[in-house]
Amino acid sequence: MRITLNRNYYYDNFIEDCIYLRDQYSDILEIEEIGKSYDNRNIMLLKVGKGSNNVICTGGVHGRETINTIVMMKMLETYCKILINQNNIDIHGLWKKKISDYLENYSLYFIPLLNPDGYMISLKGFDEIQNKELRDYDKSLNIPSSQWKYNGRGIDLNRNFPSVTWRSKSPVRESNIYSGEFPGSELETKVLIEIFNRVKSIGYIDYHSRGKVIYYYRHAMSNEYNSRQKEIALNISKLTGYYLGNPDDEFEPDQVGGNTVHYYSEYIEKPAITVETVNENASFPLSIKYQQETYSEIEKTPFVF
Ligand SMILES: [Zn+2]
Repeated sequence: MRITLNRNYYYDNFIEDCIYLRDQYSDILEIEEIGKSYDNRNIMLLKVGKGSNNVICTGGVHGRETINTIVMMKMLETYCKILINQNNIDIHGLWKKKISDYLENYSLYFIPLLNPDGYMISLKGFDEIQNKELRDYDKSLNIPSSQWKYNGRGIDLNRNFPSVTWRSKSPVRESNIYSGEFPGSELETKVLIEIFNRVKSIGYIDYHSRGKVIYYYRHAMSNEYNSRQKEIALNISKLTGYYLGNPDDEFEPDQVGGNTVHYYSEYIEKPAITVETVNENASFPLSIKYQQETYSEIEKTPFVF
């Protein structure tokens, strides 16, 4: 096993591991640079599997949620090892068979780090931003770097996706929610929308942190759509031990929409689930000790569709 958990994991480590996986598993893993962030970091797509039933999974949409990126890389490595039938994998035999069969008919498209600028700000501070104009603007917002959710331009990507509930501002709260000038304004948002539209997929999971909770209810969608969502969410709950989010909590009046899963459900019209890893009371910056625990909780979750 080359990708080890419970360590500091920066953007450069992520790129190194992308190259490592590509070199090690070139027969079964495809890798593509699908875009750049505002501060010129690469957004990477990694694909594993042989089938045409495609599932898309993303992580690192919010900068400070720094656990899921390395966990997703480790998941990919495990799936590659299963596919080429390596024996040194710590996973139950039944699941090994299940994942191996699944990957004959399905393909997983992973984008483990959609927001590399925000990720590096939250891990190392604003000086990570090379572009002086961006750096000065980000600093001027007076948000501690360890709490940083936004992209390099100070926009919350998970409020920037086109959807019926997108708002530029919260209707009842005078707080700073940075949704962007218009839905889909940000580079990173456009990159993911392009993938949603290019890859004909059957389902989508967006990994966030915190709460150990699964959000599935989509207010803009039909009862039929939401009952399928609940079925999938219950399966994820069985695998992870995470609880199901209450539909009413999912969209309170003081919130604005524009989440990745709103876009996917409304435009692609297939199941779209948000999985929140890590205890609700964990503080930012998130300790690297959550990596191993999170890995064992979510490693089987892409196989629920
Ligand atoms: Zn988040």
